[in-house]
Amino acid sequence: MSQTAHGSAPLLILARTVTQNPGQPEAGAVLVQRGRVLAVGSREDLQARAPGAAVLDHRDLILTPGLCDAHIHLVSYGFSLTQLKLHGVRSVAEVTAKVAQRAVSTPPGEWICGGGFLMSELGLPDYPTSQALDAVSGNRPVLLYSRDLHLAWANSRALELAGITEQTPDPAGGRIIRPLGTLLEAAAGLAARAMPAPTGAQILAAAKAGADNLARRGYVSAHTMAYEDPSAALALQQLAAQGELPLRIWACLPHSQLDRAPELIASNSALFQYGGVKFFADGALGSRTAWLHAPGFADGSGTGIALDSPELIRALGRRALDLGLVPVTHAIGDRANTEVLDAYDDLRELAARRGLKLRIEHAQHLRPADIPRFAGLVASAQPVHLPGDAAMIRTLLPHLEASSYAFRSLQAAGAVLAFGSDAPVAAPDVRAGFAAAITRVGDGAALGADEALSLDATLHAFTRGPALAALWDDEGLIQPGSRAAFTLWDSLGGQAQALVL
Ligand SMILES: [Zn+2]
Repeated sequence: MSQTAHGSAPLLILARTVTQNPGQPEAGAVLVQRGRVLAVGSREDLQARAPGAAVLDHRDLILTPGLCDAHIHLVSYGFSLTQLKLHGVRSVAEVTAKVAQRAVSTPPGEWICGGGFLMSELGLPDYPTSQALDAVSGNRPVLLYSRDLHLAWANSRALELAGITEQTPDPAGGRIIRPLGTLLEAAAGLAARAMPAPTGAQILAAAKAGADNLARRGYVSAHTMAYEDPSAALALQQLAAQGELPLRIWACLPHSQLDRAPELIASNSALFQYGGVKFFADGALGSRTAWLHAPGFADGSGTGIALDSPELIRALGRRALDLGLVPVTHAIGDRANTEVLDAYDDLRELAARRGLKLRIEHAQHLRPADIPRFAGLVASAQPVHLPGDAAMIRTLLPHLEASSYAFRSLQAAGAVLAFGSDAPVAAPDVRAGFAAAITRVGDGAALGADEALSLDATLHAFTRGPALAALWDDEGLIQPGSRAAFTLWDSLGGQAQALVL
């Protein structure tokens, strides 16, 4: 449940309050008015200060600064809510059964889209071909994304509509696996482009569905990444203008749109702001496209794929900083992280002068020597992926097991931890995210138990960390002047609900 009263009368919230303000870490009450915190203190003090204030009695609950998902593809997530869900499937037969079922309610010729599977969880030694999907889809094109979105599995009809044959050359930054059926990275885009583009109304509906879903889970804000249709951000902006956006949004533009940045920044508003420029240094673990130092993947599948070059990140990163935008770079593999850190070394001084924090998304598998280099940077990570990745890390990257998802070391090195979900890659499940950061259990055992975070540090990484990354001085802590956007909990890391006043 989220409340969005915007009355001008003061309101007194009674709750066990965790403020994250070191000067006053705990309190029993918070006084708010016109969307801002007026005062934090004891019930008696605040009641004396505002005797006429209406009271919201949540003394049975814990009140904290509001949750922020620091890495989400919000509109894609909205679309995913109605697509075929393949999270947790454990065999090709399970996938084809679900596709067959979806085909019954899908008119011939219409696309069946979905995602959420992982090759390793399907028990596939090799990339899948179209064959299994062809058998159950009739004349319907089928395009299924892996959970990490770096691989797509297409049936023959989808490939035909995309004009992909055995003779089609690999696109830049992608690979068409032969025999046909699997498309890696940019090659997946070839098939996606064959789909009818969603209408403006569909994009707006997906933006609303994604944002409402996130708010229902207890979030009050989000950083939305640029790996989706450029009109996605515009839809969120439109919702903000209509007063229908239940979240505060910090958005990235793809670096290809940097020329438009001045005009886009001029449209920033209180609830929607362009703040970052997105780069991709590599792919992902499950798709074996993460860019690695030698020895690479332990199954002999190589050292991954390099995407945006460090030179490009240096050059466009400088332009972004000059515009007041933060370079935001996806880096999963250890080599990708090294290369981005090298590029960032050349941008640090300019970023500091502009008061901006350079940011690495995922920072997932690190060379131990690189961890201290995160000092002063934002490490935007997604603990909710750890349980599902643990088995893959143990088999594909055994030499990096102790320095994967290295939350505690990154924090100790002086990085700002900002946690998110990468939805629709994983559901933005608050309870699962907290549990993963604190216990690190995946595939039956803790992965790098030394890297476990405390409950307080996890809460910080889901609230104040993202606020620091977005330069939101008024969010992630509860003190006079803060945005009146909170999360209410039955227990910290348990059931959460948003309270935006
Ligand atoms: Zn992402």
